[in-house]
Amino acid sequence: MNIDKQDQPRQPLLPNTAASRLGILGGGQLGRMFAHAAQAMGYQVAVLEPEAACPAAQVAEHHVQLAYDDEQGLALLSRLAPRVTTEFENVPADSLKLLATGGFVAPAAACVSIAQDRLAEKHFFTRCGLHTGVYPAPHWGIASEEDLKSVNDDLLPGILKTTRMGYDGKGQVRVRNREELHTAYALMQGHCVLEKMLPLAYEVSVLVARGVDGEAVVYPIAENVHRDGILFTTLAPSPNVSPEVARQAQKAALDIIAELGYVGVLCIEFFVLTDGSIVVNEMAPRPHNSGHYTMDACDTSQFEQQVRALAQLPLGSVRQHSAAAMLNILGDVWFDGERQREPAWDRILAIPGAHLHLYGKAEARRARKMGHVTFVASSMELARANLRSACVILGIATPESA
Ligand code: ATP
Ligand code: MG
Repeated sequence: MNIDKQDQPRQPLLPNTAASRLGILGGGQLGRMFAHAAQAMGYQVAVLEPEAACPAAQVAEHHVQLAYDDEQGLALLSRLAPRVTTEFENVPADSLKLLATGGFVAPAAACVSIAQDRLAEKHFFTRCGLHTGVYPAPHWGIASEEDLKSVNDDLLPGILKTTRMGYDGKGQVRVRNREELHTAYALMQGHCVLEKMLPLAYEVSVLVARGVDGEAVVYPIAENVHRDGILFTTLAPSPNVSPEVARQAQKAALDIIAELGYVGVLCIEFFVLTDGSIVVNEMAPRPHNSGHYTMDACDTSQFEQQVRALAQLPLGSVRQHSAAAMLNILGDVWFDGERQREPAWDRILAIPGAHLHLYGKAEARRARKMGHVTFVASSMELARANLRSACVILGIATPESA
């Protein structure tokens, strides 16, 4: 099974020529960091994004300010850039298909479509489980009252999730029993997936990348902690993971990316359960927040890797040269109660091994991702201690987990 049936041109797009332009759908922070990596290597970048002062358009050479499904916008992007990628998974699959008629698109629409639909994704992971031995959580698709009635008792307590558009813990409700399930479904309606609530020990993600020639690389395992549904910290390499679990998760990630016939960077989230077994949760068809540490701690960042895959250049080394602890910076740190303030970046940058990344968002809002800081060090203990010092400076409750 190779999901990506795209007839791909097989030729590197070298940097530093008149044609060396890479296109991106979406103008958020992931697009911005992709643009930085592309420009550092001698490419120009064109962004399709309806919003005016978005993070990526501030740095890209070309900004097509139209909707992601605007045919003229897509045609213009295609003319500007012979190779196009996406920075978010909810881009209309039809837009990727249309772009693929005029140039090379990675990842392909067929791969992105699977990641857009939780149920399709779980079916895909279940099929892959035959090779990987790693399966998704027990689940049941619910699209009608009939489906609701046929839910097995064994799936409760569980989590009811919308099949599409869920992110940062939005679009999901925890349900303890049938009554709560009925109430939650009545509110959510549409297509949902009920997942059995599993006893998680911790959560990890595995970043993989694959070139058009089928060559693939896998980064070290990163361990993620969420707060209020949003990624809070990533520690890499994961301090909790055993060599056996690391090997299993990395092998599963490589099998999954090969099964997809995927080109580009893919991030796969796994749960490690209290009994030590692992479960595959979901995948993001793009660089991921939990992979930001690669910018400062690995030979090749996830964004450079995406540039290399899109340009059909050899993939870079995934060696991690320093322990890394990444702290997400949300808009909340601009608030002291009701009063707005500017965070003390000078004090953050006085911490050894601190790398500050801010995304150029003018307005700080609570829960809005504004940037991140990665602390690199010779040991994880040191990286974590530095992350904790930063939390104190920024007024963020110190994480027990980090
Ligand atoms: P994001 O896009 O931010 O990764 P999401 O909204 O797509 O999140 P999930 O990653 O599926 O949703 O779930 C969010 C969090 O809820 C997980 O990180 C995990 O902590 C918890 N969770 C999800 N599914 C389960 C489960 N089956 N059992 C236990 N906990 C779960
Ligand atoms: Mg998730």
